[in-house]
Amino acid sequence: MGKTVFSRIIDGEIPSVKLHEDDQCIVILDISPVEKGHALIIAKHPYPTFSECPASTLSHMMEIAKKVDEMQRNVLGCDGTNVIINNGKASGQEVPHLHIHVIPRFLNDGQSFKFAKQTYAEGEMNELGGKLSF
Ligand code: AMP
Repeated sequence: MGKTVFSRIIDGEIPSVKLHEDDQCIVILDISPVEKGHALIIAKHPYPTFSECPASTLSHMMEIAKKVDEMQRNVLGCDGTNVIINNGKASGQEVPHLHIHVIPRFLNDGQSFKFAKQTYAEGEMNELGGKLSF
């Protein structure tokens, strides 16, 4: 499989607006932001999804996401953020190279992030909870 667009950015083959770089990740501005300042924390190693990535790397990337959230609140004055990982094609992940979105959000910004909610049949929730417990 060829390089992902994010590996090409990491290798300097295509341009980006970079906010941060360290040994494990880079942070860039998303080229098609949900809100201006929408940032992506991208793993330097091209783990295709969250599921393949070691917890230690995820932990570091979440620390960086926290810093991005702080910067967005301080610099943009946003009221909140969406911190999102699309994990696999079925979830809407377009670029198969692990990244965390941090999207600035403003009260009444007109954006929406809504799933259609479902309901459980009688007993189903407890049964499923039992299967998913660890
Ligand atoms: P996802 O759907 O979670 O895989 O998100 C991929 C994100 O990468 C999208 O929000 C795109 O707008 C963004 N993206 C794709 N190509 C580039 C690029 N060259 N520079 C910055 N962001 C990009």
